Amino acid sequence: MERTLVLLKPDAVQRDLVGEIISRLERKGLKLVGLKLMRLSDELLNEHYSHLVGKSFFPEVKSFMQLTPVVACCWEGTEAVNTVRAICGITKAREAAPGTIRGEFAMSVQANLIHCSDSLETANAEVKRFFKSDELFSYDDVLERYVYNSS
Ligand code: GDP
Ligand code: MG
Repeated sequence: MERTLVLLKPDAVQRDLVGEIISRLERKGLKLVGLKLMRLSDELLNEHYSHLVGKSFFPEVKSFMQLTPVVACCWEGTEAVNTVRAICGITKAREAAPGTIRGEFAMSVQANLIHCSDSLETANAEVKRFFKSDELFSYDDVLERYVYNSS
């Protein structure tokens, strides 16, 4: 089982897409193990987007991410990292595949509704960065047998 971090960005909050996005991940069969609203500090964003520090658009990305609180969630499942990434769609939302969250609902590179971890290694670090251990939950999912059957 993998755990992956998802952030619903300020455009998702403002456009009333929080329920839609969470619903899509739930209906896929992923298990919600952490969920909260949070305001992202400069320090947290510098760490979270460290690969973008130095890019000309980084200040804009940062202030965009601070427009409203974001919804942080942690999802669990077999190969959850790549599965969520596929559901999310590519960064440039106008070109994201139909059926993906970005492909269905977004038109921008920056305002692309959702962040999700891009590898298992990143996911492990990001889940730790956004959630304290007592904010993450393990529990039986009564439908797990039907969602996965044997593999
Ligand atoms: P992601 O993993 O698909 O979210 O993409 P990246 O890790 O490459 O970038 C993080 C976020 O920075 C993206 O989701 C966008 O919100 C933003 N971003 C990336 N590239 C650009 C760009 O060229 N211009 C602007 N304004 N924002 C960008
Ligand atoms: Mg990324």
